[in-house]
Amino acid sequence: MIILLLGAPGAGKGTQAALLNKKYGLKHISTGDLLREEIKNNTPVGKKAAAIMESGALVPDDMILGLLKNALNAGGKGIILDGYPRTAAQARELDRLIKAMGEKIKAVVNIKLSEEEIVNRIIMRRQCKKCGNIFNLRFMKNFDGKCPKCGSGDVYQRPDDNEAAAKHRLEVYRAQTAPVVEFFKDKDFYKEVDGIRPAEKVFEEISKFIEK
Ligand SMILES: [Zn+2]
Repeated sequence: MIILLLGAPGAGKGTQAALLNKKYGLKHISTGDLLREEIKNNTPVGKKAAAIMESGALVPDDMILGLLKNALNAGGKGIILDGYPRTAAQARELDRLIKAMGEKIKAVVNIKLSEEEIVNRIIMRRQCKKCGNIFNLRFMKNFDGKCPKCGSGDVYQRPDDNEAAAKHRLEVYRAQTAPVVEFFKDKDFYKEVDGIRPAEKVFEEISKFIEK
């Protein structure tokens, strides 16, 4: 099973991916992680990718597609792709690759959220310096200044999580993903869900769509 998650930063893709993993055993894959893995293992692809990244250039699409192909071939119950494809060209190539492998995309889930809510979520995000836990004050009834995971009081807001940076990231995201949405939106496996509701409700809707 192949599921693609679309949604702006802060829309809750990570949470939904975790829930999908728990219920269906799907592996959550990010192309960034796949690349880091190759580099860490010093594979031929990893060496090439490291050199390209050091030069400041973007890793070419065919290299990413090769990694995705391996991940798909690795079997298991399926994968969740998050943060890919980012362009219409990547969407087309991915679609082609999946078809060529005799596979099908089960669902492209686009988690929609208003700009105001996204910015709100981003600026209310906090990280614990001690354990690295990232949590959101937006979803906490009362916050006592301590990390909900380890209890440390050394909690901070990452410099990137301010309003101006959040708005900028959102703009970049919209400009990039609009063509991706355009590519998938008329397919019968495309689904938009309202991300403002609690994560369990959003997940319920996604589950129903997948199982229908
Ligand atoms: Zn902590």
